[in-house]
Amino acid sequence: MLEDTLQLVGILDDGDHLHVRTAFEQYDVVIIGGGPAGLTAAIYCGRARLNTILIEKALVGGLATYTNEIENFPGFPDGTSGLGLMELFHKQAKKFGVKFKLTDVKSVDLEEETKRVETFRNIYEAKTVIVASGGRPRITKAKNEEKYLFDKGISFCATCDAAANTDKTVMVIGSGDAAIEEGMFLSKFAKEVIVSVIHDEPKMDCNEIARDQALANPKMRMVWNTMVESFDGDEHLERVNLKNLKTGETESFEVDTCFEFIGYEPNTEIFENKLNMSKRKYVITNEKMETGIPGVFACGDVREKELKQVATAVGDGAIAGVGAERYIAETEMFENQIMQKERIGLIYIYSAIDAPSRELLPMMQEIEGEFDDQVKLNVIDQYKGKSLCDRLGCDIEPMTIFYTKNGEVMDTSTRVDKKSVVESLNKLVKRPVGA
Ligand SMILES: Cc1cc2nc3c(=O)[nH]c(=O)nc-3n(C[C@H](O)[C@H](O)[C@H](O)COP(=O)(O)OP(=O)(O)OC[C@H]3O[C@@H](n4cnc5c(N)ncnc54)[C@H](O)[C@@H]3O)c2cc1C
Repeated sequence: MLEDTLQLVGILDDGDHLHVRTAFEQYDVVIIGGGPAGLTAAIYCGRARLNTILIEKALVGGLATYTNEIENFPGFPDGTSGLGLMELFHKQAKKFGVKFKLTDVKSVDLEEETKRVETFRNIYEAKTVIVASGGRPRITKAKNEEKYLFDKGISFCATCDAAANTDKTVMVIGSGDAAIEEGMFLSKFAKEVIVSVIHDEPKMDCNEIARDQALANPKMRMVWNTMVESFDGDEHLERVNLKNLKTGETESFEVDTCFEFIGYEPNTEIFENKLNMSKRKYVITNEKMETGIPGVFACGDVREKELKQVATAVGDGAIAGVGAERYIAETEMFENQIMQKERIGLIYIYSAIDAPSRELLPMMQEIEGEFDDQVKLNVIDQYKGKSLCDRLGCDIEPMTIFYTKNGEVMDTSTRVDKKSVVESLNKLVKRPVGA
């Protein structure tokens, strides 16, 4: 494990201030983003005794801290506050020795084996990077909006806030699939769901089935050709003022909560052209949270995925944390054991469920013994050691042999009879067997 080192590399004087520039703190894992996904990954990495730092630019806890009441996170039958829940996550990660840094990650360099994560003052080097930078809901930018965001009457999460609006009047902004599907979900709780649609009647941005269902829903009322002009109220939102784009008139609607579903933006600007992304700019991963760059994982809302909630962010974070741990252990094993430099390497790929390849294991051990201490045998089960096989080269069949010298592959062969193997090794060792 790398020691945490800190080098002082210079002092910049810009005339007014002295800035101390430091560089190259080294870690096993750097986690970008301290929401539920990043914090969970941190708990797993810390508990695995990896030297881990989590970098958060705003509030540790992420988007979940914006909500007063989380009722759907398992283990809290009476609900819990988002902030309270995130404080527990934070405490748990700190208990396992994770370091926290409150600053903005400005850029990343992920391709090389040693990854680099740069903030204003520091460069963090790491064996693995976990991207957990989440996202942010798009807002209308109408007057007074900032005043009522999140717990003051403007919500972005029907799953989270529907129950609190039972028998109340709510407004939905937007007519895309998310807006209409969430609006229909809200109609199961609220007494009326007013929907502000920017288009002419009956055009909506959602699919036709959702549109027909919404138009037939007696609790849903569409207000066509409108967009939000301003939000009004006292401490809490009381009215939404909609401007009719055709007539120019403004109509005021009394609502208890206004749900905005006009899109969600991932925090992925710094990963542009560096990570595989969907059209919507979410990071694409497989189910192991791998991004396609070895040693780089992404988890939580920043991923292209179906359900963005604390519970799914936690699941993603756990997988990414375990993935980082495995990646580091496998890298060490690959470099120090499989590709060892001390002796000629005989790497035999077999499959535990393939009898012919399995039955050759004793022969391989016998050959290793015949070469005294000149040859080191390593056997890899193709299924259990898939990623080790990937490091050697893709699509390896069982019964493949790699011959190495000084930690480099010298030859590959699928001829696994004793005569061929001994001949190949004889070409590499100092004193051939039988000489
Ligand atoms: C108002 C509201 C209410 C919600 N209510 C619920 C609920 O009741 N139940 C539920 O399950 N879910 C709820 N959600 C959804 C839930 O909050 C998210 O799904 C969850 O927070 C996603 O976690 P995450 O860690 O992936 O991302 P986030 O929580 O978005 O955290 C990402 C973090 O990364 C940081 N970051 C981004 N870029 C950088 C950078 N360059 N450098 C450093 N740090 C960076 C951000 O500041 C942020 O803190 C709610 C969401 C909102 C907005």
